[in-house]
Amino acid sequence: MGQTRSVANPGDFAYTVKQQADIVRIIGEYVKLRKAGAQNYSGLCPFHGEKTPSFSVHAARQFFHCFGCGVSGDVFTFVQKIENITFPEAVRAVAQKLGIAAPKAQFNSPQEAREARTRGLLLDLHEAACLWFQEQLKRPEGAAAREYLRGRGLDDEAIARFRIGFAPESGFLLRDKLKPLADEDALRESGLFSWKEREDRAAVAGATSAAPAQPPPAALYSKFRNRIVFPICNESGKVIAFTGRTLATDDKSGPKYLNSPETPIYSKSRVLFNLHLAKEAIRRLDYIILVEGQMDCISVFNAGYHNVIASSGTAFTEAQARLLARFSKKIVVNFDPDTAGAAAAERSLALLVSEDFEIRILTLEQGYDPDLFVRRKGPEAYKAVLQGAQKYFTYLIERAQAQFPRTAEGKVKAVNYLLPHIQRVSSRIVRDELAADVSQRLQIDSAVLRQELRHVAGARTSTKIVQPPEAALTEAERILLQALSSGSELAFTFDDDNGEQQVYNPSEQAYYTLSSEQLHKGLRAEALIDAILKALAEGADLMTLPLSDSDRALLMSVLMQDHEPLTAELLHGAIGALRRRQLEHRRRDLRGQIAEAERNQDYPAVARLQQEQQEVDRALRHAKTV
Ligand SMILES: [Zn+2]
Repeated sequence: MGQTRSVANPGDFAYTVKQQADIVRIIGEYVKLRKAGAQNYSGLCPFHGEKTPSFSVHAARQFFHCFGCGVSGDVFTFVQKIENITFPEAVRAVAQKLGIAAPKAQFNSPQEAREARTRGLLLDLHEAACLWFQEQLKRPEGAAAREYLRGRGLDDEAIARFRIGFAPESGFLLRDKLKPLADEDALRESGLFSWKEREDRAAVAGATSAAPAQPPPAALYSKFRNRIVFPICNESGKVIAFTGRTLATDDKSGPKYLNSPETPIYSKSRVLFNLHLAKEAIRRLDYIILVEGQMDCISVFNAGYHNVIASSGTAFTEAQARLLARFSKKIVVNFDPDTAGAAAAERSLALLVSEDFEIRILTLEQGYDPDLFVRRKGPEAYKAVLQGAQKYFTYLIERAQAQFPRTAEGKVKAVNYLLPHIQRVSSRIVRDELAADVSQRLQIDSAVLRQELRHVAGARTSTKIVQPPEAALTEAERILLQALSSGSELAFTFDDDNGEQQVYNPSEQAYYTLSSEQLHKGLRAEALIDAILKALAEGADLMTLPLSDSDRALLMSVLMQDHEPLTAELLHGAIGALRRRQLEHRRRDLRGQIAEAERNQDYPAVARLQQEQQEVDRALRHAKTV
């Protein structure tokens, strides 16, 4: 990692926050974690695509590590990465989650400070704009908008919950409202405004003036005019963009739906509509309802299905699929892949299949979208169709059957239609099962076709399961690493032979033995142990040691797994094993040296070496009896 690391040091604010933060709870807000051991939790890594969990969080050590992509760190590193913010922002975000008042942030560079300031400012502008749109909806000018929303079955409560607002016809009111909060550059960057460049001011930059000409202040006007405005929120519920639905009936007023452009706080491909309101229910119910439009989403939510999100009519991105996977991998897709956004729906489904989601398809009667269905038929009827949702592959097979005749030729076509879908599945076992299912349901009795189907379905290379690298360590190394990194966790007091109370600390014993005898030389963990010894000597935090990726993985594999409790006997055994190993190495070296000395007829050296060999032999005999 070439990045500069920011750490929490005793005495500073970050340190105080870190001590109070429960990393399992905070990461648990983003990743579905399962208890994997006494202190250890695991889940699917949010930072790389994976099917088997290799992401671990250690409760006592307040640390996470992914054995798949190697990312690791403390609660701040996590929040920093997942929210894509700087260290100081992450500290403040965690403090906020804990309800601790944060002092002013400190940044690593002016650039970083500027970016953070911009993001903060843009969030403030969006919050102010959202409040203002909400106000406008209540004004006389908002009458038509209110009427439209009533017509869609939305009551005041729903309007307030989704913070739906109204953008009036005038393009300047919002600008005047937001002007006191930010300078013109920030207003432009917010994506809330459009402007027309004045051509006479352009193109004169080079000639005389050193300072750039100020853009004319009157040029900005609101992008959203005469529209119902739906805020789009990030995962934590902060408004980051808007969708505006036009109330005009003519063509001149632009598209029916208008979205905010990409800004420093809004990236369309990483956001899912309503996730902030749905995530608790998704986690609790362990499935997601996916609809296409925002109105669909709002209606289904109001009908009591709080685990609903909207794709907003575009194809899913990998980032979105991964975002969702953090909450559940079961999804009911409630849009007809045959209709309007067919291509986008098809791509979304393909992606979800390859990301190993368990998919069901909910098909509504002809002419109904989820919004209309819920309003006309009611929540109970929706519950019934939800329960009847078909497995995706059953749905596909039925589609194939409807499309192609049951002739030999038709069956070949059906198989060809289904194969690409089957091949997207990453598990070979599942692909085999699907192929068998297809053969049976399509009543394929041609052995050749059945063979071909199974062959092609099976051919895709399966994904490798990530194995923790711990296997490379000997038992003794593992025990010493565990002892070294235990701090005073494992220390205990006992009475010595003179009846005096003594403290035995495995960490200290491992430290002194390894430092003085260098028993770890030549071991797989040599570099790692050296780094830890150095850190202990300097009193540095083991969790933030600069290590190579493989050494970090090694350390984490020891720390993240539950082993039998470390006793003094185990530690002595491990030290003994390493001593014997060292002695055996020394003995082998001595044999070589003696042979060489004999060849050189250097008899004094031979005598000296032989004496040493006897000492080593004695030590070895002794070591073996201990
Ligand atoms: Zn990972």
